[in-house]
Amino acid sequence: MLLARSLRLASGACSTSSSSMIILKNSRNFLGTPRYYSTPATRNGRPFRLAVIGSGPAGFYTAYRAMSRIQDARVDMYEALPVPFGLVRFGVAPDHPEVKNCQEKFEEVAASPNFTFIGNVSVGTTSNHPDGVTVPLASILRHYNAVVFSYGAPKDRTLGIPGESLTGVYSAREFVGWYNGLPEHADLDPDLTRGEEAVIIGQGNVALDVARMLLEDVDVLRKSDIAEHAIETLAKSKIKRVHIVGRRGPMQAAFTIKEIRELMRLPRVGFHPIDTSLIPPDPKSLPRAPRRLMEILMKGSPTPPSDASKSWSLDFLLSPTAFLPSPSSSSQLAATQFAKTTLSSPFDPQAYALPTSDTVEITSPVAFRSIGYRSAPLPEFSALGIPFNERHGVISNDGRGRVRHEERTRDAAMELGRFNGLYCAGWVKRGPTGVIASTMEDAFSTVDAIAEDWADPTVRFLNEEGEQGSSIGKQEVSGWEGVKKELPGGADKKVVHWDGWKKIDAAERERGAKVGKEREKFTRTAEMLAVLG
Ligand code: FAD
Ligand code: NAP
Repeated sequence: MLLARSLRLASGACSTSSSSMIILKNSRNFLGTPRYYSTPATRNGRPFRLAVIGSGPAGFYTAYRAMSRIQDARVDMYEALPVPFGLVRFGVAPDHPEVKNCQEKFEEVAASPNFTFIGNVSVGTTSNHPDGVTVPLASILRHYNAVVFSYGAPKDRTLGIPGESLTGVYSAREFVGWYNGLPEHADLDPDLTRGEEAVIIGQGNVALDVARMLLEDVDVLRKSDIAEHAIETLAKSKIKRVHIVGRRGPMQAAFTIKEIRELMRLPRVGFHPIDTSLIPPDPKSLPRAPRRLMEILMKGSPTPPSDASKSWSLDFLLSPTAFLPSPSSSSQLAATQFAKTTLSSPFDPQAYALPTSDTVEITSPVAFRSIGYRSAPLPEFSALGIPFNERHGVISNDGRGRVRHEERTRDAAMELGRFNGLYCAGWVKRGPTGVIASTMEDAFSTVDAIAEDWADPTVRFLNEEGEQGSSIGKQEVSGWEGVKKELPGGADKKVVHWDGWKKIDAAERERGAKVGKEREKFTRTAEMLAVLG
């Protein structure tokens, strides 16, 4: 609801935010809102052909905004999986169905005659299943005016400490993908029967999602769109106590109020009280958000841990140093070792953690590393000279999504060089943080930069002839039709278009209806493709 309202507000704001916009009276776009083009006309009367790489929120909000803001924009969206929506389908927790309402907007976007979904097609990187299609990025660059990279953050960050590959150490990204039916992690099969305790390293909202999955009543989860294999495993789980461990304190924690409150309110689940010395002495003087958070943490759960069937704690000021193997099996996790930390300034939200020589161990055969997702460059980036900032895990850009690299000018100063027609949006643009609403804002800002550039005759796009600064190109580009001709024989038959996704969607809903769920996801790409015959 909030997101839908946010989208309406955001699209409504277009009508007043830019004086240079051309308002086409009596013209409505496919979403039923008036069109406000910020571009005066197409260049040389040709449509604007945009390739969007990735069909998560960044990709869909980019497509929506481009078709609303750039006259005669044609958007082709490439998606590695046969199914759309990125982390909305494979990240958002199954017990948060309301968050997935944004899919309805994405459906409306896909209904535009100017939009083409090209699913089961990996761009620039080998498809990770045998029936997938791989398209070189170089081929995409030949057939569009512009490309927006919105392929998210499909890897995870690692701790780089001993024992990280022991059995029983899981990445939260894999675990989340597994319970949400992501084919890549369908075989994870976590063993939750070896002991009663679990450790989660990291105190962000993903850590809280993982904790909720471990603590929540399986019969509640059963009604959600959680993968069936996850229900079977969670029903057998012996975990009764979850430690969510952070290297800093409550004032620095990354989780947010709504999510911590939800965990606190789980029926028959108890919260172990926190050390109150970590709470500022006068919480009432704090700004509203941290004040509410501190109040919730101090109040605790309605069920005390002693009366609860399961319990959890927030273990602060602990930085992981090693995963320790079991004496009886050197490949199995037995405990996680942490260095105690102190804070540079305990109540400062920006305080950093300083490790001490004191260590503690938490005994548990299961540990989840939940310290953030990570993006990576596409393999062709280096050959094509497209810059990727490894430190921040983002495509180098000017903050508005224009792909940029630093270059030295004749007088030896550094300036930002431009990559004509290349843009980025979402987690690959700003790093793996932010919710769907902020990803939407971010995609909108990228498209607004593209629209400004398209309206500026001195800015060149892909496949335009002539020198920089001269007038506009002459070359016609044909988008997906051109790319398709360069595919190896028969590969285009494996491509899943929107009507194919709708068939998979209908089949999943039908399977779900039989067991009282909204949908029963296919967890293998072969099963998805089998629906299409
Ligand atoms: P993604 O959603 O990751 O989309 C990227 C897409 O690109 C994917 O579909 C991927 O398959 C595709 N792709 C990758 N590589 C290629 C390639 N080479 N070729 C073609 N396609 C490719 N936000 C909320 O507001 N509420 C929540 O409850 C919430 N829960 C979350 C839970 C988890 C576990 C996580 C990790 C995030 C959650 N978020 C939530 C945040 C939200 O999911 C992100 O803000 C958002 O999904 C980022 O969008 P994106 O499009 O940049 O990336
Ligand atoms: P996050 O919010 O960035 O949290 C990462 C956590 O890992 C932090 O507690 C961080 O601690 C810790 N960490 C990082 N490096 C570490 C290290 N080397 N050692 C120990 N701890 C380390 O990331 P996330 O939880 O993956 O979430 C990603 C984004 O998705 C966030 O914006 C989140 O809000 C969003 N999301 C939203 C929802 C929702 O709205 N319900 C659900 C899930 C995710 P420090 O702070 O000390 O670095």
